[in-house]
Parts: sequence; structure tokens; C-alpha cells
Amino acid sequence: MYTPANDRYETMTYRRCGQSGLKLPAISLGLWHNFGDVDPYDEAKAMVHRAFDLGITHFDLANNYGPSPGSAESTFGKVLKEGIGAHRDEMIISTKAGYYMWPGPYGDLGSRKYLVASLDQSLQRMGIDYVDIFYHHRPDPDTPIEETMGALDQIVRSGKALYAGISSYRPEQTRCAAEVLRGLGTPCLIHQPSYSMFDRWVEDGLLEVLDDEGIGSIVFCPLAQGLLTDKYLKGVPDGSRAAKPHGFLKTDAITDAKLGKIKALNDLAQQRGQTLAQLALAWVLRHDSVTSALIGASRVSQIEDCVGALKHIDLTEAELAKIESILAD
Ligand code: NDP
Repeated sequence: MYTPANDRYETMTYRRCGQSGLKLPAISLGLWHNFGDVDPYDEAKAMVHRAFDLGITHFDLANNYGPSPGSAESTFGKVLKEGIGAHRDEMIISTKAGYYMWPGPYGDLGSRKYLVASLDQSLQRMGIDYVDIFYHHRPDPDTPIEETMGALDQIVRSGKALYAGISSYRPEQTRCAAEVLRGLGTPCLIHQPSYSMFDRWVEDGLLEVLDDEGIGSIVFCPLAQGLLTDKYLKGVPDGSRAAKPHGFLKTDAITDAKLGKIKALNDLAQQRGQTLAQLALAWVLRHDSVTSALIGASRVSQIEDCVGALKHIDLTEAELAKIESILAD
């Protein structure tokens, strides 16, 4: 039987999500990799427990996470059922639909038909009655935004989700989605974009839109899938994401040019007395409009290391300038 740590709320920082009443932990845990039916269940369960013990109240899923697709939700549902689910009211659970999930015209993209059916399947896999946040996972150029946002509004009104979110929408698409949702009376709570030192598109207009609209954000892949750690400095270790056939990170993304930057960033992190993962997290969290950094992990010690970033989160002007010069090289 799982008993959570008594001090779980003592060290984590919680940040308000946009102009909503909801606070999220500065570090959240995503279950995209390492929670599928190809992965060891005991480690997956241990990671959820350790995260919760460290004050990580937010767990992020999607219909297609695995492999196999859907199996991360099943794993999480099993972990909930085996004990931690007794703390459901202390948890923020999110899921999404928007990528291919089942064959035929109703298992992909952004129709009302797909979103409503997919959430029902997700709830069943996780064994819960509602999620806290339901996202449209990516923009769909062919479905009218009124239909997709109407589906999110319908889902919230049905009680199957408490809040609506969008993921990977560009700045203008975000404004449009926010306006439609506001008109329906279900404000857009949160945007989930990618953001890291190696992927800075959100700085080109999106963060401003989120500030204007009062929408929070949770940034995914803040460690660039593990590149922004010291793990690839001496080759590709066994068991790492780049070494796995089903991992989304491919070895050809680990170029000499990238490794040069990683090495220089790692030196800077060491001068600050922290790991590169911790520096990379402090760097994305420097924006007020970034509510939470959404990490992934393959073992408990990585979650502990990432949460340690919050002990030294401030960056000086000189350090920020140094990071800019490393990234520009
Ligand atoms: P990260 O960039 O945080 O990469 C996670 C990987 O980095 C881990 O699997 C691990 O690699 C490595 N790692 C983590 N912490 C450490 C550490 N302290 N030291 C060394 N290595 C470390 O994020 P992810 O790519 O996993 O994405 C995070 C979440 O974002 C997903 O689970 C999902 O919830 C969400 N997401 C959303 C998307 C969307 O379209 N909305 C798209 C992609 C992700 P290793 O496995 O090699 O040990």
C-alpha cells in the first residue's frame, strides 16, 4: 500500500496557470515515453510515486502514448488503482486527442466525433470519471475551429474534463481558439508547446499571445528529450531514448555541433553547482508565462535531479548572455 510522503508540499513551487484559479507544480511529469506496455511496470509505478512524494501533482498523458498506443494510460490507471488513486483530489491529470489513434475517418485530427469518443476511451483506460485538463493535441487545418473548440466546451460541460487546453497551436491559431472558447464560456486554461534551449519557436510571438489572453503554459521536451543533459557527451548509452528502437529521439539528431553546445552548457551548469538538466529547466522557467516545465523520465533518480532545479532557479544577466552566446555559436 502506498503512503505519500508527509512533506510532499514543502519544497515544490506551485505557479498559477494564466488567469485561472488553478496552480500547477513548476515541474510536471509526462508519460509519453517509459510508461508503455514495452516498459518495466515497477519502474513506471515507482516514478509516479516518487514524483508525487516530491510535490509533483500534475501527470500528463495522451490517448496515443505507449507504445502500444493507449498503454501509458492503462499503466497509469493501474498505478492509480493500486493505491495512489486514493489521492485523486490532490492530482491534476491531463490527456489529449489530435494525433492518429484508430483506423477510419474518426480516429485522428480535430472533429467533435473524434475528441468526444477518444476522451471516453481514455477515461476507461485510466479508470477515472474525469480528467482535469483535456487538450486538442495539434491544430487541424481542415476542421472549423468552432467545431474543435465546441467539442472542448461540450466535454467540459459534460463534466468529463474540468478545463480545456490546446497544444502546438501557432500564435494566430491560439488567439482564434481563445476567442472561440471565451465566446462559449469555457476559457482556454493552458497551452502546451515545445520549448527548450534547442527549440525556441514560442519566443516568436506565442508567449506574448498567452500573456495577452491570460492563458498559462506547460512546456514540453524542456530537456530536448534528454539531449540537454550530460548523458550523450560520451556516446549513446544503453537504455537511453536514442538507443531504443521505439524512442522518438534518433541518433542522427546528436550531431557534433549540438554536442559542442551541450558540452559548453554542461560546463556552465557545473560552475553554477547544478546539472545540465537543472540548468535547462531553470532556463525555460525564467518566463512568468511558463507555468510548468513538463519533463519525462526513465528512472526515479532523474525526477529527483530535475526537481532539484528549483533550489537554484535564478539566472544572472551574465549567465543568460553566456547561454545566448553558446547557442548562437
Ligand atoms: P524531456 O525533454 O524532459 O526528456 C525526457 C528524457 O530526458 C527522459 O526520458 C530521460 O531520457 C532524460 N532525462 C530526464 N531527466 C534527466 C536527468 N535529470 N538527467 C539525465 N537525463 C534525464 O521530455 P520528453 O521528451 O519526455 O517530454 C515530456 C513530456 O512532454 C511527455 O511525457 C509528454 O507528456 C509531453 N509531450 C507533449 C507533446 C505534445 O505534442 N503536446 C509532444 C512531446 C511530449 P532517457 O529516457 O534516455 O533516460
